[in-house]
Order: sequence, then structure tokens, then C-alpha cells
Amino acid sequence: MPEFQTSPGMRDVLPPESARWRRFVRTFDETVSAAGYGQVVPPLLEDIGVFHRVGEATDVVTKEMYDFVDKGERHVALRPEQTASVCRAFVQHRPATPWKVWYAGPNFRYEKPQRGRYRQFDQVGIEVLGPDDPLLDVEVIALGWRFFQRLGLQQVTLMVNSLGEPDDRARFVAALHAHFETNIERLTPESRVTLAKNPLRVLDSKRPEDATVIASAPRIADFLGETARRSFSAVCDGLRALDIPFVVNDRLVRGLDYYRLTTFEFVGGTLDSAQNALGGGGRYDGLVEDLGGPATPGVGFAIGLDRTLLACDDEKVFTADVERVDVFVVDTTGGLNALLLTDQLRENGIRADRAYENRSMKSQMKAADRSGAVVAVIIGPDEAESGTVVVRPLRDGGEQSSVSRSDLTNTLKRVLS
Ligand code: AMP
Repeated sequence: MPEFQTSPGMRDVLPPESARWRRFVRTFDETVSAAGYGQVVPPLLEDIGVFHRVGEATDVVTKEMYDFVDKGERHVALRPEQTASVCRAFVQHRPATPWKVWYAGPNFRYEKPQRGRYRQFDQVGIEVLGPDDPLLDVEVIALGWRFFQRLGLQQVTLMVNSLGEPDDRARFVAALHAHFETNIERLTPESRVTLAKNPLRVLDSKRPEDATVIASAPRIADFLGETARRSFSAVCDGLRALDIPFVVNDRLVRGLDYYRLTTFEFVGGTLDSAQNALGGGGRYDGLVEDLGGPATPGVGFAIGLDRTLLACDDEKVFTADVERVDVFVVDTTGGLNALLLTDQLRENGIRADRAYENRSMKSQMKAADRSGAVVAVIIGPDEAESGTVVVRPLRDGGEQSSVSRSDLTNTLKRVLS
């Protein structure tokens, strides 16, 4: 084993997988750019206080943060998510609202690594700051849904819920707390600890021993006030109008205090249940204010790239394809001609590769085959002398032909189209 390997939970992304990553982000970009979202590229590193604002009661912030004191004595952290950074950027730059932005890039969480759970993982996401409009929530959810559709995923379930207005939610949390307190002996020790911090999070427990107490717990739907009910039916009606299937799951809660009204999750059909959330989001309030800005509502989602690609693998869609070149130049005159020809072709938008080290014709033809190129362009001493090259189809068995160098680009464009 080599002395140095990637740290636990960290991975190298190699070709052709890396090309799939780029296509993933490109597909996301195309989906949301067409809806007027612009990209924000926040730094990987922020003052730790930015992330503390997101939720001191979450593991993401309390236990999993990669934080350290830098050489300037600043307490900083690698971002565990990007919503906080986007809100910090909004406060810092004060763009006009509605501010519709998207992001893509890695986050860091010190978690126990396993399939679909890493310490460095990528997310794509959007945030809209400004409007408080349930039909915007629908737009946001729909963009996530359309993105999964573009990837070709068939087994994604959209779950939606409303967490109510802060008052509704406070009454719900109080009722929840009372219920769990009454049944505390039937909760696992882990859930008792969670209860002390945040009763909502107990609902997330996947431990079978907690299931009965959770099943009989109060339901948020019974605590929604008029505003929340109206907003939630507007969201559901909007999704129906767009023909986007969804399931109302009133156990879907997000533990952060900032969330209100609409909350949603995209669940994959093929991954282990602990890792099946491909992405999620919702409406939040107060985060911008807490970071020092004016009271500004927000709504958004984050989708995990790594986990979504695992779901693609399972469904055999959006596969990693080897990126092929169009043309392979075989040069038996020493290599300078191949250098010139590949440069000429690349400059004309033709993907071209060649062999190195002045290998034999046979060895170069083998390399041409391996490259996946559609055409070989061959140049030997005779061709070099007469200013021509031989164009030989590699796949569909057509005839080879002699072409003058000045006609080469046009001939290849015809052959390749
Ligand atoms: P969250 O920011 O926790 O709401 O997560 C949103 C999405 O990011 C999840 O649904 C996952 O797809 C992905 N995600 C979160 N944590 C990890 C991780 N440690 N490894 C891989 N993907 C993750």
C-alpha cells in the first residue's frame, strides 16, 4: 500500500466519473439558469459564527464541523452547507430582491463515512431571498423535480409538509415535548438526549424502539393556523397544476428554528433508508436577520451530488461514459506532424488525440482503436512528401481516402457529422 492515501470519508474523483460530475453540474446549471438563477460561488471557509447561526442544536454544527484557528487567530470552519454562506453574502452585498441564486461545490462534515455519506461531499442548490409567496415555493420544488427528471431518475419521491408559522410550530413543539416526556421510559437513551435539545429531532429517529412513541406523537397538521393552512394548500395546488406527484408527510420536519411553512424532501427509491434523502429544503425566516441583515424571507433546497449519482447508478441512468475523441492522428514520420495536425484539428473544434514516443504503425493503430475515435488520420513519409493524409474510418468500415492537408478539416467535419 502506498504511504499516502485519501483521508477517511474523502475520495478522488477520476475520469470518467469526473466527467459525469461536470455533466451533473451543467445539467443543474441549465435547469436553474433558464429560470433566472445566477451562480454564487462562496468561499469554502467562513468565520465559524456564520454556521453557528444555522443551528446550534444540530449535529452538523455542534459535532461535525471542520473548524480551526487560523494564523490570524480567527476561528474559521470549512462550510458544512451553503445556505448560511449565501445568506451571509446577501447581507454583505445587499443585492436587489428577489435574489435568485444557485451554487455547486463541496461541503465538509465530520461524519462516520459509509456508502452515500462522506466527509467531503458535493451539493448543488438554489436559494431565493426576498419574496414570501407559496407559488415561489412551488417553483423552487419544481426546479428540483425537473432536475431529477433530466437526469432520468424515475424513482424519486417528493415529500412535502408545512411546519406552520412560528406560533403554530411553538405550540406543536410544546405538545410534542409533553408527549415524549410522558413516554420517556419508552424512548431510547439517544432520543432522550435529543429530546432535551430539540423535540422535533426525536421524530427523525430511525431506531425501531422509538417507533411506537413516535407513531402516537402529535401531528403538526393539527396545529397549523389559518395562514399556514392557506399557504400549504396553495403549494399543494401548485404542484398538482404542474403535474408533479408528491406525498404529504407530516413527519417531515427540519430541526432548525429558521424553517417555517413549506418543507420538502426528495427521497430516492434505491438507497438504504438512512441515506435515501437525495436532497431537501424549505422556507426559512430569520437567518438573514441573524447574520445582521434586514428581515428577509428565504426558500431553497440542497441536493447531494454523490448520493444522487448513486441513485443514478442504481437506476442505470445518467451513466459515466468515457469521453472519446473524434479523431486519432497516426504519424510514422517522427511525431511533429501529429503535433501540428492535432493542434490544427483542435483549433477547428474537432476533438483529436495522438500517440507519443514515435511508436510503430501497428502500436499507434491499436492506440487509435482504444481511443474510441471515429476516424484515424494517418501520415507517413509519402503523405508528408505530397502534402496529404489518409483518412481511415475506424468504426463503420467505410473506405479510406487520401485528402490534401488543406481540405482535412472540412473533410473531417463532413465525415463526423
Ligand atoms: P442537508 O444539507 O443535511 O439537508 O443535506 C442535503 C443533501 O446533501 C442530503 O440529502 C444528501 O444528499 C447530501 N448530504 C448531506 N450530508 C452528506 C454526506 N455526509 N455525504 C454525502 N451526501 C450528503
